[in-house]
Amino acid sequence: MMNEHKTLLHNVDKLLNMLVHLFIIRPYKSDKTHIKYILPCLLPDRTEYDLKRMNESVKTKRFQIVFPDNHMPPTFYYVLVGGLLKEWKLIEKNPDMPEIYNLYACFRLDSETQQLEIFWKESQVYINLKNYSRDKEWERNKIVEILEIVKKRIQKVFLVYRHTNEDYEIRVQCPEHKTSFVSLAAIMRDGEAMCNDDTLKHGLTYEDVFHSKLLETNPLLKEKPTDKHLGRLAIYLVREEAISLAARLRLHLSLIEVDRAAQKTSDTNMRRLYILYKWRSSNGFATLGDLIELLTVTKDYHTDELLKQLETSPERQKYAIPSKRLDCIPENNVDIKIASKYIGALFQFLMLELGLHVVEIEADIANNRGDMYNTIFCLLDKWRKKHAENSTTRTLLDTASFVGIDTIEMQKEIIKKSQQLRY
Ligand SMILES: [Zn+2]
Repeated sequence: MMNEHKTLLHNVDKLLNMLVHLFIIRPYKSDKTHIKYILPCLLPDRTEYDLKRMNESVKTKRFQIVFPDNHMPPTFYYVLVGGLLKEWKLIEKNPDMPEIYNLYACFRLDSETQQLEIFWKESQVYINLKNYSRDKEWERNKIVEILEIVKKRIQKVFLVYRHTNEDYEIRVQCPEHKTSFVSLAAIMRDGEAMCNDDTLKHGLTYEDVFHSKLLETNPLLKEKPTDKHLGRLAIYLVREEAISLAARLRLHLSLIEVDRAAQKTSDTNMRRLYILYKWRSSNGFATLGDLIELLTVTKDYHTDELLKQLETSPERQKYAIPSKRLDCIPENNVDIKIASKYIGALFQFLMLELGLHVVEIEADIANNRGDMYNTIFCLLDKWRKKHAENSTTRTLLDTASFVGIDTIEMQKEIIKKSQQLRY
């Protein structure tokens, strides 16, 4: 009897851990011996009347989270609120117990007069940011921070419950038309979006929502991603596997297709390039801004750091090679013959940096039947013909180092060769 009781207790711990992991319950207070747990539906539902009465004369910003392709069950709401409890300390300085009802929760924020309500209605999640203050307005950064935390939790819920291809959108309520919600991403990106109210269609601006001007955005964000951009990201996103990258890009590939993509090559850089390439071909109008937005949803990456990766140019380095060899295009392609021996597995990324395209690279790989030396030589020769003005030895060496290729052996052999040629 005693033994059975012990076994049961042991399993209770496991069960509790599992429920915590699934965001169904949250531990909230512990002393040395006890942890207390809360379940996000402790209190009865707030009635419509309660909500209306509470809403009077309070400045509220309302956001709506919609799932266009799927019908989400209310369970999604519970696990989202369960997960938000974990982030709650990030948004509130002096955390106490939030009020959690059936399908409704209220979190107090760092300023006592500002609160976050989150509730479920008609298969959608609503977020009310309420400001009871007489003088203080919502700060733009605070709103963005809260929404980012919510987005991050949505992604985590999808991840834990293995919904890798879920789509969702956050919309903001039009201040004039309470039943109309407008795409927040469009407002953040373009500075305005359409309010499709039944009686009056109109543009809703960034200023209407955030009471401040939209910061100047980097013009690069409006450009379409080139092969070179995709190559740089493929090398930079080292933490991603093909499958996790496809999930971030909400690429609607079946798992089998992603697996196939991953098996196409054992080179992880190339797997990522393949996924990025797939994303671009299925999103013909997408910009670098759209791509960066998808990559930064969970805050594992930041817009500035990704832009820096895309904007940096190869640095001019010092070499012991005589200038007349370094800054010219050698006869007989001596330098590219030498380089072809040493470039190695990163060659495709070097070619992208030098301005060649993925299709040209793939064609030369196929033509040379996997012979790496010949493939690289053909590609470098193509580069030299295509960019006759600046395809110098220096450009080749600087760009190779930039991609992460060790050029020391190449340099030694080029120096040796240039000395032989002098005699
Ligand atoms: Zn409107």
